[in-house]
Amino acid sequence: MSHHPSVIEAAIQATKTYGAGSGGTRNISGTAHLHVELERTIANLHEKEAGLVFTSGYVANEAALCTLAKGLPNCVAFCDEKIHASMIQGINHSRVPKHVFSHNNLDQLRQQLSKYDKKQPKLIAFVSVYSMEGDFAPIEVICDLAKEYNALTYLDEVHAVGIYGKGGAGLANALNQQHRIDVIQGNFAKAYGVIGGYITGSKSLVDYVRSMASGFIFTTSLPPMIASAATTSIKVLQEADDLREKLWDNVNLLKSLLAKTQVNYHNTPSHIVPVVIGDAKACKDFTDALLHDFGIYVQPINYPTVPRGEERMRLTVTPFHTKEMIHEMADALSFLWGKFFMKMAG
Ligand SMILES: *Cc1c(COP(=O)(O)O)cnc(C)c1O
Repeated sequence: MSHHPSVIEAAIQATKTYGAGSGGTRNISGTAHLHVELERTIANLHEKEAGLVFTSGYVANEAALCTLAKGLPNCVAFCDEKIHASMIQGINHSRVPKHVFSHNNLDQLRQQLSKYDKKQPKLIAFVSVYSMEGDFAPIEVICDLAKEYNALTYLDEVHAVGIYGKGGAGLANALNQQHRIDVIQGNFAKAYGVIGGYITGSKSLVDYVRSMASGFIFTTSLPPMIASAATTSIKVLQEADDLREKLWDNVNLLKSLLAKTQVNYHNTPSHIVPVVIGDAKACKDFTDALLHDFGIYVQPINYPTVPRGEERMRLTVTPFHTKEMIHEMADALSFLWGKFFMKMAG
């Protein structure tokens, strides 16, 4: 989307009208009509009362989680062990007691929740599409638990917006759970191809974060041209079922080709296809060979992004990759896999 003609044009036109920068913080001369329009667009996307834009998805998570957890008297936080670093930072900075449950382990979450009085404020922080695993959160069951134990739900949809749900509204939308999530967080930097982050929720909750979050108040706002590019990208993708179809065709093609090889890929339900190598040096050597011998660029993902011993490649195709490119990629991976990891057998 960063190369989409409408997105580029929106950025150019807004730059000519408003300049390259915003001129200040949101409260001190840094709010343009385009910021407000972007906040309306995300609220509308997620069918929430209000939206609030931050300079990045990281800042949105850090600021909103810290502010909410700290602001709720006696709050206790519950989080999946695989949530994003920005969410961990936010919860840690709030200094509220925290329970980490192992990845998608609902029995453990229930156990942890049940230790507290129903009246005590609780916050469950989780992610819809986990970026390194490529798996989904059991959103519906987590919402059931939140209801049963009286907890707020905070969902990071960074890897889902633009791709899943009606008009790209995310996985909670796709599963008809959107109305049950108190805070939906996302960003404009992944599928949308620009930069910036946001939260959406009820008017009073969003107003509270707007009024209290240091990471919102004390920093220069996004340039209006970025706000305009992001709004345009969201609106283009709201109407772009054809692009989503192409994406899934490509994802399914890649997975079906890899299924015919020895490559140790994870057959995830999502568009993210991890290939776990399990060793930092082998992972780097493998991706170097992919680049130098085949002209294919895949980054090695090593510690601290994933735990040691779980080093991996993460394959993410786009709607704009051709079938030919995907065939080449699968062939290259298969060839190198044989060369690197099948020596013993051969
Ligand atoms: C990338 C990412 C973020 C941070 O978003 P930025 O806009 O890059 O700061 C937050 N959560 C998840 C799950 C991410 O993958």
